[in-house]
Amino acid sequence: MAKDKVLVTGGAGFLGSHLCDRFIKEGYHVIAMDNLITGSLDNIEHLMANPDFEYYHCDVSKFVHVPGDLKYILHFASPASPIDYLKMPIQTLKVGSLGTHNLLGLAKAKGARMLIASTSEVYGDPLEHPQKETYWGNVNPVGPRGVYDEAKRFQEAMTMAYHTFHGVETRIVRIFNTYGPRMRLDDGRVLPAFIGQALQGKDLTIFGDGSQTRSFCYVDDLVEGIYRLLLSDYAQPVNIGNPDEITIGEFAEEIIRLTGTDQKVVYKPLPQDDPKQRRPDIRVAREVLGWEPKYARSEGLKPTYEYFKKKILTTEQAK
Ligand code: UDP
Repeated sequence: MAKDKVLVTGGAGFLGSHLCDRFIKEGYHVIAMDNLITGSLDNIEHLMANPDFEYYHCDVSKFVHVPGDLKYILHFASPASPIDYLKMPIQTLKVGSLGTHNLLGLAKAKGARMLIASTSEVYGDPLEHPQKETYWGNVNPVGPRGVYDEAKRFQEAMTMAYHTFHGVETRIVRIFNTYGPRMRLDDGRVLPAFIGQALQGKDLTIFGDGSQTRSFCYVDDLVEGIYRLLLSDYAQPVNIGNPDEITIGEFAEEIIRLTGTDQKVVYKPLPQDDPKQRRPDIRVAREVLGWEPKYARSEGLKPTYEYFKKKILTTEQAK
């Protein structure tokens, strides 16, 4: 019998490629789409020879076509780090809006269930702490992060409209800071930045005074939460993240200890609209999906560190 097909947009990205792995493991036929503006074929190289895996080079903001049946669509295409979406503001807005619209149209035509990658950024610089799904957020639409935040907010609204108006089966995951192997060393996010700096003997750059907080979730936990949400019958947004909150200053110390270096920290200006605190309330995920994170930071950081160490070594050898 033919296997059920899953489409993963952003399939060559950090999260998308881990989702491809998971669906292959679960016995699906996986189609990964990517235009490689932030993704990399390195992330899916190991899947290319698999007859149950296909890669389509495609910009989903323009047009999406998939022949035959489709069971699930997971829309993970988007620049996702602040420096990436500052560099590509229009593409970011388009993939969240036009891309989502195209994919919802595809889901409707195929009778597929669609899950969208939303984000804790829909809460902006949150005035409620920790953030529950019922919080409407505090977003500056015309600030530098507005291109990502508003695209994702529009994406949620569009998805909900297809759900209520067209009866498309939809799922919305709000992803909090996630880390793990296959993050890009140069994506500007704090974790690859700190580990990269420590490994290259550079000082760690703390933006602002380091008192702002984040809560970091290991990628395997996130993938498990997304898988459960997709298979559930819950169409409202669900936070998936690890509630273990830490200040960026403490996090820098943790990375210095982990890497065994004696690097110092240096302070740089805080980017505009940088959220002061972020921590998911995961009661809905616990109750509806029976999900909670399993990996402590100390466990998740080990394979992540090994990945970056290898990456730096192979890049240096290639020079
Ligand atoms: N940050 C930092 N140094 C860096 C990169 C980021 O201090 O080299 C800070 C950033 O200002 C923010 C936090 O770390 O307060 C997390 O930033 P990231 O870009 O990883 O993701 P965000 O959660 O802001 O989207």
